[in-house]
Amino acid sequence: MAGLMAAAKTAGRLIAALLLGLAAVSQVVASDTTPAKQLFGNKKLPAQLPPQVHGFYSKGCFSGGIAIPTDGPHWQAMRLSRNRRWGHPQLIKTIEKLSREAAEKDGWPGLLVGDLSQPRGGPMLTGHASHQIGLDADIWLTPMPNRRFTAAERESTSAISVLKVKSVVTDPVIWTDAHGRLIMRAAGYPEVQRILVHPGIKKKLCDSWKGDRSALNKVRPYYGHHYHMHIRLRCPKGSPNCKPQNAVPSDSGCGKALDWWFDVALKPKKAAKPKKKAEKPKKPRKPKHTLLSDLPAACALVLDAPSPSSEAEATLKVSGTMTAFAPVKAIRSPFSMPALVPVPKPRPLN
Ligand SMILES: [Zn+2]
Repeated sequence: MAGLMAAAKTAGRLIAALLLGLAAVSQVVASDTTPAKQLFGNKKLPAQLPPQVHGFYSKGCFSGGIAIPTDGPHWQAMRLSRNRRWGHPQLIKTIEKLSREAAEKDGWPGLLVGDLSQPRGGPMLTGHASHQIGLDADIWLTPMPNRRFTAAERESTSAISVLKVKSVVTDPVIWTDAHGRLIMRAAGYPEVQRILVHPGIKKKLCDSWKGDRSALNKVRPYYGHHYHMHIRLRCPKGSPNCKPQNAVPSDSGCGKALDWWFDVALKPKKAAKPKKKAEKPKKPRKPKHTLLSDLPAACALVLDAPSPSSEAEATLKVSGTMTAFAPVKAIRSPFSMPALVPVPKPRPLN
């Protein structure tokens, strides 16, 4: 009798396991056609697992993310509604360090922090090809004002371009030496892999930076990036699944490589000659969305992992002075703050 009971129990377990397996398979099949940006974009909280990075900056995800608090002694996070204040703990630490050191040593009163990553990284519903593994951060090239923005102002306030209008050179009215000090400080951190800025900013640094130039090679010219700089960290220790980016060239990058941007890449395009024959209208291509199955296999586990019970539980915790930010004392900003203009329309910030 006992033998019969045991056999029945085993059979029951087998059936349960089979059903569970089927459920898991059907879940994978169902989610396989859903764009990964929807799966990751809908997650409100991080994966409660140890911090681990999976994949590349533009194709991956991460677990154990923490959020940078909306306010710190020397920073304010912007665009809170986007829920992109999340990063690998190393990224959050680096931003905190940069905000403090820039305020203490560079005459930069504080950081306005733009997009980091979604809680579990992954592709985003709007903007950004990268920012997927919790190691990228957009820091506005607009100094923090000496008051706290309201939540509404953090949505509507626009960053200010450091370029002259319709040009590829920095505007001497807006650009200050402190801008240069902020960028070069970040570039000097060993954990920083590269910083993306507009070629006009790189040129300005090449021509004017008088300090240690050994980190100038990490400041890389790229399209856009005249409202903010993009800080990218190296793969952190303990993340063997993180795919590193090629090392930056060892030379300063102030020579021919930079000239190419002005001589070729940023030159206004000549109007195309009118075509003789009327071309067949092209069939609109189906947009190919990245699927979960295109990402590293571990990203399925990251997506399914439990969340912490609240955002507060997954927010950077440091000494009391950090979370309870200092009352806003009148920090005398070395900058005359231009009028705050509302954003005309959302711009993808890469
Ligand atoms: Zn960016």
